[in-house]
Amino acid sequence: MTTYDCIVIGGGPAGLSAALTLRARNLSVAVVANDPKENPLWKSERVANYPGMENATGAQILTAMRAQAEACGAEFVPARALSAMDMGEGFSVLAGSDVLMARSLILALGVAARVTFPGEAEHLGAGVSYCATCDGMLYRGKTVAVIGQAHDAPEEANALFDIGCDVIYFGLGGRPQALNPAIKFHTAKKYQVTGAGAVETLLADGQSYSVSGVFVLRETLSPAGLLPGLALENGFIQVDRAMATNLPGVFAAGDCTGRPLQIAKAVGDGNVAALSAAEFLARKK
Ligand SMILES: Cc1cc2nc3c(=O)[nH]c(=O)nc-3n(C[C@H](O)[C@H](O)[C@H](O)COP(=O)(O)OP(=O)(O)OC[C@H]3O[C@@H](n4cnc5c(N)ncnc54)[C@H](O)[C@@H]3O)c2cc1C
Repeated sequence: MTTYDCIVIGGGPAGLSAALTLRARNLSVAVVANDPKENPLWKSERVANYPGMENATGAQILTAMRAQAEACGAEFVPARALSAMDMGEGFSVLAGSDVLMARSLILALGVAARVTFPGEAEHLGAGVSYCATCDGMLYRGKTVAVIGQAHDAPEEANALFDIGCDVIYFGLGGRPQALNPAIKFHTAKKYQVTGAGAVETLLADGQSYSVSGVFVLRETLSPAGLLPGLALENGFIQVDRAMATNLPGVFAAGDCTGRPLQIAKAVGDGNVAALSAAEFLARKK
């Protein structure tokens, strides 16, 4: 398996800028990134304040940045990073169903959903999980709820069903076509996770379901849900001026590290994070 010098998670301006700088230092880099059309900036019809690209659309800026990073040799892994782990000698990242390895990490996640359901944070690791692939086997033979708010949530629910979980899927609209027809489906908007210690019940729009696990599958994960032990400050990833987090070898850039939430700041952060990752790697040699 290839071990990259750095894995960048997130393909927005911060992640793309970091990838470009890492390649300029001749470091190998994998960017775990969803489709650029899913980036919130894609929808912007006019960006007036990004130097050198006056009145470009968000789509034009993202397309140009990505093409430049690709041309420099950054590898793109089209997936959502589901979890990252410090393995001692480096980091493993679960990207969709692929496991990637790297000697350093740059988190460029954008602004993650910081609103959680009541009871969600309290039961994280005690029945609440953000990753069916990581934790599914713990619930074999048990009833689990999947709150499906990510595009790949039906596939994750199917995988839980296939390993022997009794799955109840909760969606926002109609039943997803990709969902295994044998899986029970409900629509709900409001959720609460309850249980003394471990998860016992999911309340969905006031209706109670007895479950042992709740898989909350959102398009973006909270940074601490992605990488346990990561320090946050007011919901943003805590970084120093070198964009270093509290975890050695882990750097962060862009909106996920705080205000101003702007492209120019994200690009600058990505550059600094990449240079810091390069220094970290050089010290380890
Ligand atoms: C409609 C709109 C208009 C805007 N207009 C302007 C403007 O005119 N000028 C300006 O300066 N700023 C503007 N912004 C703000 C600007 O878009 C952000 O500040 C900038 O995109 C931040 O870059 P980033 O790379 O930090 O985060 P993002 O661009 O949000 O990129 C992060 C990416 O990482 C992805 N991601 C998150 N978690 C994971 C994971 N686990 N695995 C894989 N991928 C993941 C996200 O889905 C996202 O695609 C606008 C934003 C919006 C929404």
